[in-house]
Amino acid sequence: MPFADQNYPPSPMGIPTLADLLDVQDLDSQIDRLLERRQGLPELNRFKSEHEAAQALEEELKEAGEELKRIELDLDKAEGELQILEAKLEEHETRLFAGGMSARETEHMRLEVQSLRGQKEAREERVLTMLEEIDPVREMVTALESRLTAVNERKAELETVIKEEWRKIDAEIARKEERKTQAASPVPEDLMELYDKLRRIKEGVAIASYDHGVCGGCHMALSPAEEEEAFSDEIPRCAHCRRILVA
Ligand SMILES: [Zn+2]
Repeated sequence: MPFADQNYPPSPMGIPTLADLLDVQDLDSQIDRLLERRQGLPELNRFKSEHEAAQALEEELKEAGEELKRIELDLDKAEGELQILEAKLEEHETRLFAGGMSARETEHMRLEVQSLRGQKEAREERVLTMLEEIDPVREMVTALESRLTAVNERKAELETVIKEEWRKIDAEIARKEERKTQAASPVPEDLMELYDKLRRIKEGVAIASYDHGVCGGCHMALSPAEEEEAFSDEIPRCAHCRRILVA
């Protein structure tokens, strides 16, 4: 390697430390990819859309359910009123046919019965209209309920798959974290701090290998002068992206 010929004093940190840090970086990158996979599971997106579908269906079901309840109450009331009217009509008819009333009373009762019959017909008509109205709403509620059940079943299935995938990924992450702790143990604290800082601002890559005059972080070439300057430092850094370099 070109800089190997240069007579710089050996860094007190030494190359093994930077090589350890490169191992840490490799493990961190693997962990990052696992975390990305964890958040980007296709089942997760499907779960989200099923969840939204369930919410929309619940809203529709609530409205349809309220409408059904309102019509049922109106129907109950109309049927109750019809029964009262029927009872009243029966009573009046009985009295009319029993006779024994004066001509004026009879005439009055006859008109009353006529009026009640008209009212009864109108009520019956109304009850029938309401019964016709209630059927499609009932059907809609039933259809919405079965759609919601199907969506919730799909949600539950996806949740099972997601939890299983997450369990596997989390176990994998835990193994990598453990190896990372081992790899990081020889790395001095201030170098770890620099590494963490660079990871935050350099898309997760703080340290890269330097190969054939090219930085493995930004993939740009260093001129011989830049290379000489970079590797004269205790911690060599890329002239372009400022990442730590390991030759
Ligand atoms: Zn670079």
